[in-house]
Amino acid sequence: MKGNFNHKLTESEVQPVMLLDLRRQYEVIKDEIADALKRVCDSGAFVLGPEVKLLEQNISAYAQVDYSIACASGSDAILLALMAAQVGPGDEVIVPSFTFFATASAVTRLGAKPVFADIDPVSFNIDPNDVQRKITHRTKAIIPVHLFGQMADMIAINAMAQTNNIVVVEDAAQAIGAELQGRRSGCWGNMGAFSFYPTKNLGGAGDGGLVTTRCERLAKCLNLYHVHGMNPRYYHSVIGINSRLDSFQAAIINVKLRYLEGWTNMRIQNARRYNEMFTDAGLDDKIVLPATLDERRHVWNQYTVRVHDGLRDEMRTSLSDRKIGAEIYYPLGLHEQECFKYLGYATDSLIETYNASREVLSLPIFPELKEGEQRLVVSAIRDFIESRAARRVLPAAVPTLSREAA
Ligand SMILES: *Cc1c(COP(=O)(O)O)cnc(C)c1O
Repeated sequence: MKGNFNHKLTESEVQPVMLLDLRRQYEVIKDEIADALKRVCDSGAFVLGPEVKLLEQNISAYAQVDYSIACASGSDAILLALMAAQVGPGDEVIVPSFTFFATASAVTRLGAKPVFADIDPVSFNIDPNDVQRKITHRTKAIIPVHLFGQMADMIAINAMAQTNNIVVVEDAAQAIGAELQGRRSGCWGNMGAFSFYPTKNLGGAGDGGLVTTRCERLAKCLNLYHVHGMNPRYYHSVIGINSRLDSFQAAIINVKLRYLEGWTNMRIQNARRYNEMFTDAGLDDKIVLPATLDERRHVWNQYTVRVHDGLRDEMRTSLSDRKIGAEIYYPLGLHEQECFKYLGYATDSLIETYNASREVLSLPIFPELKEGEQRLVVSAIRDFIESRAARRVLPAAVPTLSREAA
C-alpha cells in the first residue's frame, strides 16, 4: 500500500471527495423510498399515524429501551426530555462545552442555566471529573453527548447522577447504534435524545427526532408534552409544545433502519482503513488519529483528527483546494459563544475544549465512501504536511493552551 502514497497528483488528476454524499445511499433505496412515500399518501395520515408508531417500536427495539416518543427534531428531543424532567428556572444542567448548540439551548429555553464542563481530550466527550466538580445542590440534570458516534463515560456519569439524584439525558444525536459494554446509546440515561437530521447516521429527508426511555412515567410525560400537553383532545393538563414527527419522515426512516447496521459497519471499516492508510503513510505521528476507547462500539458519525501547531485551518484550505470536503465540528466551544457570554466563562476556563476547537478536523467517512477516495484524502494530507515541513515555516499564531498554565 505504501507505494500508493509516493505519487504526487497533477492538476488534471484532482477529483472531488465530498464530506457527505447522500445521493449514493439514495440510489440503492430509491424504489423502497418511493413505495413508502406512496403508502403514506394513500393512507391519508400525514402527522404521527401508523408509520410513526412503527418507527417508535423499531427504535425501541434497536436502542434496547421500552419506550420511544418521536418528535420534530433532535433539538426538540432534548427539550422534551428536559421538560419531562421538570427542568426550569433556578435549575442547573451540566453539559459539555464542546458540542452542537442544541445541547445547551434546550436548557436556556426552559429558563435553567447551562453549566459547561470540559472534555476528555482523547474521546472529545464530557470529562466525568469536571462534571463532579460542577455538581451543586441546584444541578437537576446532566446531558452527556456521545460526540462523533462514540459513547461518553456513562458508567461514571450514572454513578454520580445516582448519588446526587440527578437526571441523565443522553444526547445521542450522533450516536445511534453506539455501544458501551454491549448496551446501546439511549438506554443508559433516564432518557436518550436522537436526531434524524439528514447528516446523522440514520437520517430522514428533513427534520426529525425521538426520545427513548425505560421509564413508563417519563414516557407518559413525553407523550403528553409533544402534543401540546393535550389528553384527551382539547383538554390540557400541562403546557406542552407542538413537536410531532410527520409520517413521510417516519416512513423513510423505517426503510433506512433496515440498512443501518450495514451502513454502520461500512463506517467502521472506513475508519479502520483511514487508520491503516495514515499509519502506512507515516502520518500517524503528524496528526492525531481518532481513538476508539475500550468496551465501545464507535459508529463514526465523524472521523475527526487533530492537527497541532496551528496548522488546522491551513490544512483544511489545502484540502478544499483539491476539492476534498472537511469540516470543523466545532470551531468554538459553547462557553466562548457570544450568546453565552452572560454566563461569564473565561476563554481558558475549559482548556481541552479550547484546544480541541482549534485543532479538530473531520474528514469524509460516510458509508459509501470509496477506498480510492480515502486514498486521495490521505495523499492530500501527506502532501500538505510535506510541503509545510519543506518550507520550515513557523506555526501560525493559533496558540493552544497548556494544562500547566491554567
Ligand atoms: C444534530 C445534533 C443535535 C440536534 O439535532 P437536530 O435534529 O438537528 O435538531 C443535537 N445534538 C447534537 C450533538 C447533534 O449533533
